[in-house]
Amino acid sequence: MFYIKRCDYEAKAVILRPTFYKQEVMDTIQIKDKQFKVSIEAETIQAEVARVANEINKDLIGKNPLFLSVLNGAFMFTADLLKHITIPCEVSFVKLASYEGTSSTGTIKEMIGLNADLTGRTVVIIEDIVDTGLTMQHLLESIALHNPEKVLIASLLLKPDKLKVELDIQYVAMSIPNDFIVGYGLDYDGFGRNYPDIYTVID
Ligand code: 5GP
Repeated sequence: MFYIKRCDYEAKAVILRPTFYKQEVMDTIQIKDKQFKVSIEAETIQAEVARVANEINKDLIGKNPLFLSVLNGAFMFTADLLKHITIPCEVSFVKLASYEGTSSTGTIKEMIGLNADLTGRTVVIIEDIVDTGLTMQHLLESIALHNPEKVLIASLLLKPDKLKVELDIQYVAMSIPNDFIVGYGLDYDGFGRNYPDIYTVID
């Protein structure tokens, strides 16, 4: 029977992981009609994600938070963040379905797929990126209808210069310029979510 001792496995993980990321970094990638250049490497992302997790671990001791991950974009951030969470917690997933709203903002996104009871809970929304902040604003309104005790936001990325609404975002892994990015869960027309690094579009 094939068998790896736990200590061997751990030693391999420590040695191989940084090398793996280094080998995988590509300076530029092509997705459909657009070229992208690497802007945040995996090591930096991992360090910032661990930092955010440690802040959450300290802030939410005794709160048994429910992490609410917003698919699809937040899937990688969620997986990596949760590996560093050491306090008791639950995780659940929702999606945002777009529909044409009647308000001046045009497209409104409705939260679907919630199967957790948020009543009286400390909820931490895990989002990939806050750009104008309109999506997050709608999400906060939808979540408030479920009577949570408290709602906090953990966003992998924030474009501070694009924000159109006032938002209290407690945890931000990285702030970035206004450019369009892909990788680490974020896509361009469905592609590019698989990269461990983040890439910025080249005009
Ligand atoms: P907001 O409502 O804050 O303007 O937009 C939030 C959503 O827009 C994100 O959840 C994400 O799906 C998308 N988005 C905003 N900026 C970017 C970006 O630079 N790259 C990608 N791939 N998606 C983005």
